[in-house]
Amino acid sequence: MSSQILDSALDAIGNTPLVRLDRLAQEEGLKCNLLGKVEFLSVGGSVKDRIAKAMVLAAERDGILIPGRSVIIEPTSGNTGIGLAMTGAIKGYRVIITMPNRMSQEKEALLRALGAEVVRTPDDAPWDSPGSHIGVAKRLQQEIPCGVILDQYSNVNNPLAHEYTTGPEIIAAVAATPSTSAKPSSLKVDVFVAGAGTGGTITGVSHALKKEHNPECIVIGVDPIGSALASGGHPNDECPKPYVIEGIGYDFVPDVLSHNPADIDHWVKTSDNDAFQAVERLMKTEGLLVGGSSGSALSGALAWLKTEQGQKIAQTEGLNVVILLADGIRNYMSKEWFLDFALRPGTSRIPQTTSDT
Ligand code: PMP
Repeated sequence: MSSQILDSALDAIGNTPLVRLDRLAQEEGLKCNLLGKVEFLSVGGSVKDRIAKAMVLAAERDGILIPGRSVIIEPTSGNTGIGLAMTGAIKGYRVIITMPNRMSQEKEALLRALGAEVVRTPDDAPWDSPGSHIGVAKRLQQEIPCGVILDQYSNVNNPLAHEYTTGPEIIAAVAATPSTSAKPSSLKVDVFVAGAGTGGTITGVSHALKKEHNPECIVIGVDPIGSALASGGHPNDECPKPYVIEGIGYDFVPDVLSHNPADIDHWVKTSDNDAFQAVERLMKTEGLLVGGSSGSALSGALAWLKTEQGQKIAQTEGLNVVILLADGIRNYMSKEWFLDFALRPGTSRIPQTTSDT
């Protein structure tokens, strides 16, 4: 957070805190440090603000986007759209977002509030069909004069935004926090865990971590059951199948991910239910108002820490396991899975009274 006046909300993107998840680590019997990178505190509410800004600034530099003339069209599960709509509002671009039906009403409301147009697409349209959010965006680009698709699925500025900002922020926070006898630290990132959609976050952060900081860093990708990312895009018995968590998993492997397979050491598959429970734990135990994919990332991290290799990390004091918490619950407040646990009687930490006073 800056203590100076910012030129615009674009300057309030990123610079998010890295927060100790000590209570969760203790509940799990972990000796390593569990740390959450809290991306809902970026100004647009998610990790994807970073790439929206980076892709627009690069396209302006390259003369691909002209303020006041170009129309930004982007297929997204919503958060990249919110970042682009916010950038468009500030810079004066018309923004059209194509987004599958299953993505939350809250995301559509935010997009429209920021002045973007939203086109919903069927959930079951395969990614390369004309009816998918990608197919519809391509058609709109042909129909609309000066339409530009920045294409987060293949745009190099997507992973670069994370290599230049998300990764270095994590490294700086870990290096700047002294190791003490109460809170020992290797001063390095030893494990990084993130869900993958386009794969920009995980590959970009992995580059930053493995290149100079710690070549031994273990990078874990989290993929929902039903998605084909972990299987390299190959359909099998469990994918493609519908799942509820938004923003991670696909029925194809985006270029951003397929060009950088070595950046990810292991994949963990997670279920919707595990993710929902992990969101509830992050709220009730750590006070963090995270969204669904953050629950996937936590449940994936805890599952991996129970494997043979993971146990060695889990039981070593001072090793740092960083989990990327990609967005916030305010994107999902009307979703059944959230209301189910939020309004379920008897889940409050405060003892229930018998009267309603
Ligand atoms: N979580 C959420 C909520 C997201 O919106 C996204 C982006 N689709 C991700 C995780 C994954 O990010 P990336 O596209 O960089 O893999």
